[in-house]
Amino acid sequence: MEHKNLWAPWRIKYIQGLNESHDCFICHNLKNPDDDDKNLVLWRTDTSIVILNRFPYNNGHLLIAPARHIPDLGKATDQEILQMMKLVRDSQKALTLAIKPHGFNVGMNFGRCAGAGLPDHLHLHVVPRWDGDTNFMSVCSDTDVISQSLTELLEQLKQISKEHNLPSL
Ligand SMILES: [Zn+2]
Repeated sequence: MEHKNLWAPWRIKYIQGLNESHDCFICHNLKNPDDDDKNLVLWRTDTSIVILNRFPYNNGHLLIAPARHIPDLGKATDQEILQMMKLVRDSQKALTLAIKPHGFNVGMNFGRCAGAGLPDHLHLHVVPRWDGDTNFMSVCSDTDVISQSLTELLEQLKQISKEHNLPSL
């Protein structure tokens, strides 16, 4: 089967920033609830946080992470693992209602060599996919266009969460 990578040129800003900062943006977001909109935080639960990825592989790319700064599943409690999977379910529901993906990639990267941009804080990716989307975002690689659409999508997902009894902040 032919495999094509998504082309996401705006991610270079993220990759270039990797060695410039040792800060964990997930912990930073967790500690600053007043900035949830600015930080694109969609949901908070007792043990987890869900964030719209500012450097998405595709439209609607969400990150699900435990509130504790732990590097891998070996350090996670059963409760944390269960809650992350429930949030995968809820994320898929919200994204399906908002932007009608044809499918999803859900996954985790462990260690920088495996592509983890933030290797020290466990997180799970939920990436919506559409038929023929390998070039989906190449037509709007202007980062201003993307950040505008991220804010709009965040609002849309929050509204859907309210209407469908999904998690909230
Ligand atoms: Zn962290």
